[in-house]
Amino acid sequence: MIPEVLQQHDTIVAVATAPGRGAISVVRLSGPDAFGIAARHLRQMPSHPRTAHLCEVFRGDEKLDEALVTLYPAPNSFTGDDTVEFSSHGGNLVPASIVAALTESGARQALPGEFTRRAVLNGKLDIIQAEAIGDLIDARSHIMQRTALDQLDGGLSRRLTALRDSLLELESLIAYDVDFPEEDDGPIPRARIETAAESVLASLDQLLLTVPVGEIVREGAVVVIAGPPNVGKSSLFNALLGKSRAIVTEIPGTTRDALEGVIDTGKWPLRLVDTAGLRETGDLIEQLGIEVSERYLAGAQVVLACAESAASLDQIKEVVGKRTEAPVVSVRTKADLVANGEKLPPSAIAVSAETGLGLKELLGAIDRVIDRRQGFIPPDVPILTRARHRKALDSARGDVAQFLDAWRMQRVPVTIAAAHLRTAISELEELIGTFEVEDVLDRLFSSFCVGK
Ligand code: GDP
Repeated sequence: MIPEVLQQHDTIVAVATAPGRGAISVVRLSGPDAFGIAARHLRQMPSHPRTAHLCEVFRGDEKLDEALVTLYPAPNSFTGDDTVEFSSHGGNLVPASIVAALTESGARQALPGEFTRRAVLNGKLDIIQAEAIGDLIDARSHIMQRTALDQLDGGLSRRLTALRDSLLELESLIAYDVDFPEEDDGPIPRARIETAAESVLASLDQLLLTVPVGEIVREGAVVVIAGPPNVGKSSLFNALLGKSRAIVTEIPGTTRDALEGVIDTGKWPLRLVDTAGLRETGDLIEQLGIEVSERYLAGAQVVLACAESAASLDQIKEVVGKRTEAPVVSVRTKADLVANGEKLPPSAIAVSAETGLGLKELLGAIDRVIDRRQGFIPPDVPILTRARHRKALDSARGDVAQFLDAWRMQRVPVTIAAAHLRTAISELEELIGTFEVEDVLDRLFSSFCVGK
Protein backbone atom coordinates (compact mmCIF):
# COMPACT_ATOMS: atom_id res chain seq x y z
CA MET A 1 0.00 0.00 0.00
CA ILE A 2 1.35 3.41 -0.95
CA PRO A 3 1.21 5.88 1.98
CA GLU A 4 -1.60 8.40 1.77
CA VAL A 5 0.72 11.43 1.81
CA LEU A 6 2.47 10.14 -1.29
CA GLN A 7 -0.72 9.15 -3.02
CA GLN A 8 -2.27 12.59 -3.04
CA HIS A 9 0.67 14.36 -4.64
CA ASP A 10 1.75 11.69 -7.09
CA THR A 11 0.95 11.91 -10.73
CA ILE A 12 -0.64 8.58 -11.62
CA VAL A 13 -0.97 6.72 -14.89
CA ALA A 14 -2.85 3.65 -16.16
CA VAL A 15 -4.44 2.14 -19.22
CA ALA A 16 -8.15 2.89 -18.71
CA THR A 17 -9.50 0.53 -21.35
CA ALA A 18 -9.77 -3.26 -21.08
CA PRO A 19 -6.65 -5.17 -22.15
CA GLY A 20 -6.57 -7.08 -25.43
CA ARG A 21 -6.94 -6.37 -29.13
CA GLY A 22 -8.98 -3.31 -30.01
CA ALA A 23 -9.01 -0.23 -32.20
CA ILE A 24 -8.00 2.20 -29.47
CA SER A 25 -6.79 2.24 -25.90
CA VAL A 26 -6.98 5.15 -23.51
CA VAL A 27 -4.02 5.95 -21.27
CA ARG A 28 -4.88 8.28 -18.41
CA LEU A 29 -2.34 10.47 -16.68
CA SER A 30 -3.49 12.60 -13.76
CA GLY A 31 -1.91 14.63 -10.99
CA PRO A 32 -0.01 17.85 -10.34
CA ASP A 33 2.79 17.06 -12.81
CA ALA A 34 0.61 15.50 -15.54
CA PHE A 35 1.24 18.26 -18.08
CA GLY A 36 5.00 18.41 -17.37
CA ILE A 37 5.38 14.65 -17.76
CA ALA A 38 3.27 14.56 -20.93
CA ALA A 39 5.30 17.41 -22.44
CA ARG A 40 8.45 15.30 -22.19
CA HIS A 41 6.93 12.76 -24.58
CA LEU A 42 5.27 15.02 -27.13
CA ARG A 43 7.03 17.22 -29.67
CA GLN A 44 4.24 19.73 -29.25
CA MET A 45 1.66 20.05 -26.49
CA PRO A 46 -2.00 20.43 -27.56
CA SER A 47 -2.75 24.14 -27.88
CA HIS A 48 -6.32 24.02 -26.52
CA PRO A 49 -7.65 22.28 -23.41
CA ARG A 50 -10.42 19.69 -23.72
CA THR A 51 -9.81 19.33 -27.46
CA ALA A 52 -8.34 16.20 -28.99
CA HIS A 53 -5.06 16.83 -30.87
CA LEU A 54 -3.26 14.31 -33.05
CA CYS A 55 0.24 14.06 -31.56
CA GLU A 56 3.31 11.89 -32.00
CA VAL A 57 4.26 10.21 -28.75
CA PHE A 58 7.97 9.61 -28.11
CA ARG A 59 10.22 7.86 -25.64
CA GLY A 60 13.49 9.69 -26.20
CA ASP A 61 13.97 9.56 -29.99
CA GLU A 62 11.82 6.48 -30.41
CA LYS A 63 8.34 7.15 -31.76
CA LEU A 64 5.81 5.03 -29.86
CA ASP A 65 2.56 5.95 -31.58
CA GLU A 66 0.39 8.63 -33.09
CA ALA A 67 -2.34 9.30 -30.57
CA LEU A 68 -5.15 11.73 -29.91
CA VAL A 69 -4.09 13.67 -26.85
CA THR A 70 -6.48 15.75 -24.74
CA LEU A 71 -5.57 18.02 -21.86
CA TYR A 72 -7.99 18.59 -18.98
CA PRO A 73 -6.66 21.35 -16.69
CA ALA A 74 -7.73 21.21 -13.01
CA PRO A 75 -10.33 21.49 -11.67
CA ASN A 76 -12.35 20.65 -14.79
CA SER A 77 -11.31 17.03 -15.14
CA PHE A 78 -12.72 13.74 -13.94
CA THR A 79 -10.29 13.60 -11.00
CA GLY A 80 -10.24 17.34 -10.35
CA ASP A 81 -6.44 17.34 -10.98
CA ASP A 82 -4.60 18.16 -14.23
CA THR A 83 -5.26 15.21 -16.51
CA VAL A 84 -3.99 14.07 -19.92
CA GLU A 85 -5.73 11.37 -21.92
CA PHE A 86 -3.91 9.57 -24.73
CA SER A 87 -6.21 7.71 -27.13
CA SER A 88 -3.59 5.47 -28.64
CA HIS A 89 -3.80 2.51 -30.98
CA GLY A 90 -5.13 -0.54 -29.16
CA GLY A 91 -3.61 -3.90 -28.35
CA ASN A 92 -1.25 -4.62 -25.51
CA LEU A 93 2.10 -3.22 -26.59
CA VAL A 94 1.35 0.36 -27.69
CA PRO A 95 -0.53 1.52 -24.55
CA ALA A 96 1.91 -0.39 -22.29
CA SER A 97 4.88 1.36 -23.92
CA ILE A 98 3.25 4.77 -23.40
CA VAL A 99 2.60 3.95 -19.72
CA ALA A 100 6.22 2.77 -19.37
CA ALA A 101 7.51 6.01 -20.91
CA LEU A 102 5.35 8.15 -18.63
CA THR A 103 6.41 6.23 -15.53
CA GLU A 104 10.06 6.70 -16.51
CA SER A 105 9.36 10.43 -16.41
CA GLY A 106 7.96 10.32 -12.89
CA ALA A 107 4.36 9.08 -13.06
CA ARG A 108 3.34 6.21 -10.82
CA GLN A 109 1.17 3.27 -11.89
CA ALA A 110 -2.33 3.94 -10.50
CA LEU A 111 -3.91 1.66 -7.92
CA PRO A 112 -7.34 0.12 -8.65
CA GLY A 113 -9.99 2.85 -8.61
CA GLU A 114 -7.43 5.55 -7.79
CA PHE A 115 -8.68 8.03 -10.41
CA THR A 116 -12.20 7.83 -8.98
CA ARG A 117 -10.79 8.00 -5.46
CA ARG A 118 -9.15 11.31 -6.32
CA ALA A 119 -12.41 12.54 -7.82
CA VAL A 120 -14.05 11.83 -4.42
CA LEU A 121 -11.23 13.41 -2.42
CA ASN A 122 -11.35 16.49 -4.68
CA GLY A 123 -15.11 16.79 -4.14
CA LYS A 124 -16.06 15.93 -7.75
CA LEU A 125 -18.16 12.93 -6.65
CA ASP A 126 -19.48 11.59 -3.36
CA ILE A 127 -19.02 7.96 -2.38
CA ILE A 128 -22.51 6.95 -3.49
CA GLN A 129 -21.70 8.32 -6.96
CA ALA A 130 -18.33 6.57 -6.99
CA GLU A 131 -20.13 3.31 -6.22
CA ALA A 132 -22.48 4.07 -9.11
CA ILE A 133 -19.50 4.22 -11.49
CA GLY A 134 -18.46 0.74 -10.33
CA ASP A 135 -22.05 -0.48 -10.76
CA LEU A 136 -22.29 1.04 -14.22
CA ILE A 137 -19.14 -0.75 -15.35
CA ASP A 138 -20.38 -4.04 -13.87
CA ALA A 139 -24.00 -3.62 -15.06
CA ARG A 140 -25.37 -6.75 -16.66
CA SER A 141 -28.90 -5.52 -17.33
CA HIS A 142 -30.52 -2.40 -18.73
CA ILE A 143 -32.35 -1.77 -15.42
CA MET A 144 -29.03 -1.92 -13.53
CA GLN A 145 -27.56 0.51 -16.06
CA ARG A 146 -30.46 2.92 -15.52
CA THR A 147 -30.34 2.58 -11.73
CA ALA A 148 -26.57 3.20 -11.66
CA LEU A 149 -26.95 6.24 -13.93
CA ASP A 150 -29.65 7.70 -11.65
CA GLN A 151 -27.31 7.15 -8.71
CA LEU A 152 -24.41 8.77 -10.56
CA ASP A 153 -26.70 11.68 -11.33
CA GLY A 154 -27.03 12.15 -7.56
CA GLY A 155 -30.58 10.82 -7.03
CA LEU A 156 -29.76 8.71 -3.99
CA SER A 157 -27.21 11.20 -2.64
CA ARG A 158 -29.80 14.00 -2.74
CA ARG A 159 -32.35 11.85 -0.92
CA LEU A 160 -29.86 10.85 1.76
CA THR A 161 -28.59 14.41 2.18
CA ALA A 162 -32.17 15.65 2.60
CA LEU A 163 -32.73 13.01 5.29
CA ARG A 164 -29.50 13.98 7.04
CA ASP A 165 -30.57 17.65 6.91
CA SER A 166 -33.98 16.83 8.42
CA LEU A 167 -32.23 15.02 11.27
CA LEU A 168 -29.87 17.97 11.80
CA GLU A 169 -32.87 20.27 11.97
CA LEU A 170 -34.52 18.01 14.53
CA GLU A 171 -31.32 17.98 16.53
CA SER A 172 -31.15 21.77 16.56
CA LEU A 173 -34.81 22.06 17.61
CA ILE A 174 -34.09 19.79 20.53
CA ALA A 175 -30.89 21.66 21.39
CA TYR A 176 -32.95 24.84 21.49
CA ASP A 177 -35.38 23.13 23.80
CA VAL A 178 -32.54 22.00 26.09
CA ASP A 179 -30.74 25.36 26.08
CA PHE A 180 -33.73 27.66 26.51
CA PRO A 181 -36.47 25.76 28.33
CA GLU A 182 -37.67 28.96 29.99
CA GLU A 183 -37.98 31.03 26.78
CA ASP A 184 -41.07 33.19 26.54
CA ASP A 185 -42.25 31.38 23.44
CA GLY A 186 -42.11 28.17 25.42
CA PRO A 187 -40.22 25.09 24.32
CA ILE A 188 -40.69 23.70 20.84
CA PRO A 189 -44.01 21.78 20.84
CA ARG A 190 -43.39 18.08 21.49
CA ALA A 191 -45.81 17.14 18.73
CA ARG A 192 -43.82 19.08 16.15
CA ILE A 193 -40.67 17.12 16.93
CA GLU A 194 -42.61 13.86 16.95
CA THR A 195 -44.14 14.55 13.53
CA ALA A 196 -40.77 15.50 12.05
CA ALA A 197 -39.14 12.31 13.38
CA GLU A 198 -42.05 10.22 12.08
CA SER A 199 -41.62 11.69 8.63
CA VAL A 200 -37.88 10.85 8.60
CA LEU A 201 -38.75 7.32 9.73
CA ALA A 202 -41.29 6.97 6.91
CA SER A 203 -38.71 8.13 4.34
CA LEU A 204 -36.15 5.65 5.66
CA ASP A 205 -38.77 2.88 5.46
CA GLN A 206 -39.60 3.82 1.89
CA LEU A 207 -35.95 3.54 0.89
CA LEU A 208 -35.50 0.25 2.75
CA LEU A 209 -38.53 -1.18 0.93
CA THR A 210 -36.50 -1.01 -2.30
CA VAL A 211 -33.88 -3.46 -0.99
CA PRO A 212 -35.43 -6.62 -2.52
CA VAL A 213 -35.87 -4.82 -5.85
CA GLY A 214 -32.28 -3.59 -5.64
CA GLU A 215 -31.13 -7.18 -5.22
CA ILE A 216 -33.01 -8.24 -8.34
CA VAL A 217 -31.72 -5.23 -10.27
CA ARG A 218 -28.16 -6.09 -9.29
CA GLU A 219 -28.16 -9.89 -9.39
CA GLY A 220 -31.21 -10.78 -11.48
CA ALA A 221 -34.32 -12.58 -10.20
CA VAL A 222 -33.60 -16.25 -9.59
CA VAL A 223 -35.93 -18.26 -11.82
CA VAL A 224 -35.59 -21.98 -11.16
CA ILE A 225 -36.64 -24.43 -13.83
CA ALA A 226 -37.80 -27.48 -11.88
CA GLY A 227 -39.47 -30.75 -12.68
CA PRO A 228 -38.81 -34.43 -13.28
CA PRO A 229 -35.98 -35.57 -15.56
CA ASN A 230 -36.51 -35.54 -19.30
CA VAL A 231 -39.48 -33.15 -19.37
CA GLY A 232 -37.42 -30.65 -21.37
CA LYS A 233 -35.99 -28.36 -18.64
CA SER A 234 -32.53 -28.03 -20.20
CA SER A 235 -34.07 -27.49 -23.62
CA LEU A 236 -36.29 -24.74 -22.19
CA PHE A 237 -33.28 -23.19 -20.43
CA ASN A 238 -31.35 -23.15 -23.70
CA ALA A 239 -34.28 -21.82 -25.69
CA LEU A 240 -34.79 -18.97 -23.21
CA LEU A 241 -31.10 -18.25 -23.10
CA GLY A 242 -30.90 -18.40 -26.87
CA LYS A 243 -27.69 -20.37 -26.89
CA SER A 244 -26.63 -23.87 -25.95
CA ARG A 245 -25.13 -23.82 -22.50
CA ALA A 246 -26.71 -26.87 -20.89
CA ILE A 247 -26.03 -30.32 -22.28
CA VAL A 248 -29.34 -31.55 -23.59
CA THR A 249 -29.80 -35.28 -23.42
CA GLU A 250 -32.48 -37.95 -23.55
CA ILE A 251 -31.06 -39.95 -20.63
CA PRO A 252 -32.97 -39.18 -17.42
CA GLY A 253 -30.84 -37.64 -14.71
CA THR A 254 -27.93 -36.33 -16.83
CA THR A 255 -28.33 -32.75 -15.66
CA ARG A 256 -26.15 -33.33 -12.62
CA ASP A 257 -25.90 -29.89 -11.14
CA ALA A 258 -27.56 -26.52 -11.54
CA LEU A 259 -26.58 -24.33 -14.50
CA GLU A 260 -27.13 -20.59 -14.53
CA GLY A 261 -27.57 -18.04 -17.27
CA VAL A 262 -28.67 -14.40 -17.15
CA ILE A 263 -31.15 -12.96 -19.64
CA ASP A 264 -32.18 -9.34 -19.97
CA THR A 265 -34.95 -9.30 -22.53
CA GLY A 266 -37.92 -8.24 -20.42
CA LYS A 267 -38.49 -5.80 -17.59
CA TRP A 268 -36.38 -7.64 -15.02
CA PRO A 269 -33.01 -9.35 -15.47
CA LEU A 270 -33.53 -13.08 -14.89
CA ARG A 271 -31.04 -15.56 -13.51
CA LEU A 272 -32.30 -18.77 -15.03
CA VAL A 273 -31.34 -21.89 -13.16
CA ASP A 274 -31.57 -25.29 -14.78
CA THR A 275 -31.79 -27.75 -11.90
CA ALA A 276 -31.21 -31.44 -11.68
CA GLY A 277 -34.40 -33.52 -11.75
CA LEU A 278 -36.42 -33.62 -8.59
CA ARG A 279 -36.66 -37.44 -8.75
CA GLU A 280 -35.88 -39.33 -5.56
CA THR A 281 -33.00 -41.69 -6.25
CA GLY A 282 -30.25 -43.72 -4.61
CA ASP A 283 -27.61 -42.49 -7.05
CA LEU A 284 -25.19 -40.30 -5.06
CA ILE A 285 -24.37 -37.81 -7.81
CA GLU A 286 -28.00 -37.53 -8.69
CA GLN A 287 -28.71 -36.88 -5.02
CA LEU A 288 -26.14 -34.08 -5.02
CA GLY A 289 -27.95 -32.65 -8.00
CA ILE A 290 -31.17 -32.82 -6.08
CA GLU A 291 -29.64 -31.03 -3.11
CA VAL A 292 -28.48 -28.23 -5.34
CA SER A 293 -31.89 -27.92 -6.88
CA GLU A 294 -33.52 -27.81 -3.44
CA ARG A 295 -31.09 -25.14 -2.34
CA TYR A 296 -31.93 -23.07 -5.41
CA LEU A 297 -35.64 -23.66 -4.86
CA ALA A 298 -35.36 -22.18 -1.39
CA GLY A 299 -33.74 -18.96 -2.74
CA ALA A 300 -35.87 -18.62 -5.88
CA GLN A 301 -38.00 -15.60 -6.77
CA VAL A 302 -40.01 -17.61 -9.32
CA VAL A 303 -40.15 -21.36 -9.97
CA LEU A 304 -41.20 -22.89 -13.24
CA ALA A 305 -42.80 -26.30 -12.57
CA CYS A 306 -42.37 -28.19 -15.82
CA ALA A 307 -44.37 -31.20 -16.95
CA GLU A 308 -44.73 -32.80 -20.35
CA SER A 309 -48.36 -33.74 -20.00
CA ALA A 310 -51.31 -31.60 -19.04
CA ALA A 311 -52.45 -34.34 -16.64
CA SER A 312 -49.31 -34.19 -14.46
CA LEU A 313 -49.04 -30.36 -14.31
CA ASP A 314 -51.00 -29.89 -11.08
CA GLN A 315 -49.26 -32.76 -9.32
CA ILE A 316 -45.77 -31.48 -10.22
CA LYS A 317 -46.72 -27.95 -9.23
CA GLU A 318 -47.77 -29.27 -5.82
CA VAL A 319 -44.54 -31.26 -5.28
CA VAL A 320 -42.43 -28.24 -6.31
CA GLY A 321 -44.59 -25.81 -4.31
CA LYS A 322 -43.83 -27.75 -1.12
CA ARG A 323 -40.12 -27.05 -1.56
CA THR A 324 -40.27 -23.30 -2.13
CA GLU A 325 -41.77 -20.08 -0.82
CA ALA A 326 -41.67 -18.54 -4.30
CA PRO A 327 -44.66 -18.32 -6.67
CA VAL A 328 -44.80 -21.36 -8.95
CA VAL A 329 -45.72 -21.06 -12.64
CA SER A 330 -46.94 -24.26 -14.35
CA VAL A 331 -45.22 -24.86 -17.67
CA ARG A 332 -46.41 -27.47 -20.12
CA THR A 333 -43.32 -28.38 -22.17
CA LYS A 334 -42.99 -29.91 -25.67
CA ALA A 335 -46.22 -28.20 -26.74
CA ASP A 336 -45.30 -28.82 -30.39
CA LEU A 337 -46.00 -32.53 -29.84
CA VAL A 338 -49.64 -32.12 -28.82
CA ALA A 339 -52.67 -31.53 -30.97
CA ASN A 340 -54.36 -28.15 -30.62
CA GLY A 341 -57.12 -27.85 -28.08
CA GLU A 342 -55.42 -29.58 -25.16
CA LYS A 343 -57.03 -28.53 -21.91
CA LEU A 344 -54.53 -26.97 -19.48
CA PRO A 345 -55.06 -25.88 -15.86
CA PRO A 346 -55.78 -22.14 -15.60
CA SER A 347 -52.64 -19.95 -15.77
CA ALA A 348 -50.47 -22.83 -17.04
CA ILE A 349 -48.36 -21.84 -20.05
CA ALA A 350 -47.65 -24.13 -22.97
CA VAL A 351 -44.16 -23.79 -24.46
CA SER A 352 -42.02 -25.52 -27.02
CA ALA A 353 -38.25 -25.29 -26.89
CA GLU A 354 -38.30 -26.79 -30.38
CA THR A 355 -40.45 -24.15 -32.12
CA GLY A 356 -40.24 -21.23 -29.66
CA LEU A 357 -43.98 -21.34 -29.08
CA GLY A 358 -45.08 -19.69 -25.82
CA LEU A 359 -41.59 -18.48 -24.78
CA LYS A 360 -42.49 -14.79 -25.00
CA GLU A 361 -45.70 -15.40 -23.08
CA LEU A 362 -43.74 -17.25 -20.41
CA LEU A 363 -41.24 -14.38 -20.02
CA GLY A 364 -44.16 -11.93 -19.74
CA ALA A 365 -45.75 -14.12 -17.03
CA ILE A 366 -42.45 -14.23 -15.10
CA ASP A 367 -42.17 -10.41 -15.22
CA ARG A 368 -45.73 -10.08 -13.91
CA VAL A 369 -45.06 -12.48 -11.03
CA ILE A 370 -41.98 -10.45 -10.03
CA ASP A 371 -43.96 -7.18 -10.36
CA ARG A 372 -46.61 -8.55 -8.00
CA ARG A 373 -44.02 -9.68 -5.47
CA GLN A 374 -42.20 -6.34 -5.41
CA GLY A 375 -45.22 -4.16 -4.96
CA PHE A 376 -45.28 -0.59 -6.25
CA ILE A 377 -42.21 1.61 -5.93
CA PRO A 378 -42.79 5.25 -6.91
CA PRO A 379 -40.56 6.17 -9.85
CA ASP A 380 -38.83 8.99 -7.93
CA VAL A 381 -37.66 6.71 -5.11
CA PRO A 382 -34.01 5.72 -5.60
CA ILE A 383 -33.29 2.00 -5.37
CA LEU A 384 -30.76 0.68 -2.88
CA THR A 385 -28.44 -1.73 -4.64
CA ARG A 386 -25.67 -2.31 -2.13
CA ALA A 387 -25.45 -4.06 1.22
CA ARG A 388 -23.55 -1.02 2.54
CA HIS A 389 -26.57 1.20 1.86
CA ARG A 390 -28.97 -1.25 3.48
CA LYS A 391 -26.84 -1.70 6.61
CA ALA A 392 -26.38 2.04 7.14
CA LEU A 393 -30.05 2.84 6.59
CA ASP A 394 -31.14 -0.08 8.77
CA SER A 395 -29.07 1.23 11.67
CA ALA A 396 -30.12 4.83 11.08
CA ARG A 397 -33.73 3.67 11.05
CA GLY A 398 -33.21 1.80 14.35
CA ASP A 399 -31.76 4.91 15.97
CA VAL A 400 -34.52 7.22 14.76
CA ALA A 401 -37.11 4.71 16.01
CA GLN A 402 -35.40 4.58 19.41
CA PHE A 403 -35.31 8.36 19.57
CA LEU A 404 -39.03 8.50 18.75
CA ASP A 405 -39.89 5.93 21.43
CA ALA A 406 -37.87 7.76 24.06
CA TRP A 407 -39.38 11.09 23.01
CA ARG A 408 -42.95 9.81 23.14
CA MET A 409 -42.53 8.03 26.49
CA GLN A 410 -40.61 10.91 28.07
CA ARG A 411 -38.86 8.26 30.13
CA VAL A 412 -35.29 9.34 29.41
CA PRO A 413 -33.72 12.80 29.55
CA VAL A 414 -33.92 14.73 26.29
CA THR A 415 -30.14 14.71 25.92
CA ILE A 416 -30.06 10.91 25.93
CA ALA A 417 -32.91 10.67 23.44
CA ALA A 418 -31.02 13.14 21.24
CA ALA A 419 -27.92 10.90 21.28
CA HIS A 420 -29.84 8.49 19.04
CA LEU A 421 -30.35 11.29 16.54
CA ARG A 422 -26.63 12.04 16.57
CA THR A 423 -25.83 8.38 15.79
CA ALA A 424 -28.37 8.31 12.97
CA ILE A 425 -26.83 11.49 11.51
CA SER A 426 -23.32 10.00 11.67
CA GLU A 427 -24.52 6.85 9.96
CA LEU A 428 -26.02 8.80 7.07
CA GLU A 429 -22.92 10.99 6.80
CA GLU A 430 -20.68 7.96 6.62
CA LEU A 431 -22.95 6.48 3.97
CA ILE A 432 -22.74 9.58 1.77
CA GLY A 433 -19.08 10.07 2.60
CA THR A 434 -19.30 13.41 4.34
CA PHE A 435 -16.63 12.33 6.78
CA GLU A 436 -14.52 9.27 7.69
CA VAL A 437 -14.12 8.91 3.96
CA GLU A 438 -10.81 7.05 3.86
CA ASP A 439 -12.04 3.75 5.31
CA VAL A 440 -15.03 3.58 3.04
CA LEU A 441 -12.87 4.48 0.05
CA ASP A 442 -10.39 1.70 0.85
CA ARG A 443 -13.16 -0.88 0.86
CA LEU A 444 -14.88 0.49 -2.23
CA PHE A 445 -11.89 0.88 -4.51
CA SER A 446 -10.34 -2.48 -3.69
CA SER A 447 -12.90 -3.89 -6.17
CA PHE A 448 -12.26 -1.34 -8.94
CA CYS A 449 -10.22 -1.82 -12.09
CA VAL A 450 -6.99 0.06 -12.62
CA GLY A 451 -7.50 3.10 -14.86
CA LYS A 452 -10.94 3.94 -13.44
P1 GDP B 1 -34.54 -32.37 -18.89
O1 GDP B 1 -34.01 -33.66 -18.41
O2 GDP B 1 -35.83 -32.03 -18.25
O3 GDP B 1 -33.55 -31.25 -18.81
O4 GDP B 1 -34.96 -32.59 -20.45
P2 GDP B 1 -34.12 -32.25 -21.78
O5 GDP B 1 -34.16 -30.80 -22.05
O6 GDP B 1 -32.82 -32.92 -21.70
O7 GDP B 1 -35.05 -32.91 -22.89
C1 GDP B 1 -35.37 -34.28 -22.92
C2 GDP B 1 -35.76 -34.69 -24.32
O8 GDP B 1 -36.94 -34.00 -24.73
C3 GDP B 1 -34.70 -34.39 -25.39
O9 GDP B 1 -34.70 -35.45 -26.33
C4 GDP B 1 -35.20 -33.12 -26.05
O10 GDP B 1 -34.81 -33.01 -27.41
C5 GDP B 1 -36.72 -33.30 -25.96
N1 GDP B 1 -37.40 -32.02 -25.94
C6 GDP B 1 -37.18 -31.02 -25.06
N2 GDP B 1 -37.98 -29.98 -25.33
C7 GDP B 1 -38.70 -30.28 -26.41
C8 GDP B 1 -39.71 -29.60 -27.18
O11 GDP B 1 -40.11 -28.47 -26.91
N3 GDP B 1 -40.26 -30.29 -28.23
C9 GDP B 1 -39.87 -31.54 -28.56
N4 GDP B 1 -40.45 -32.12 -29.60
N5 GDP B 1 -38.92 -32.21 -27.87
C10 GDP B 1 -38.35 -31.60 -26.80
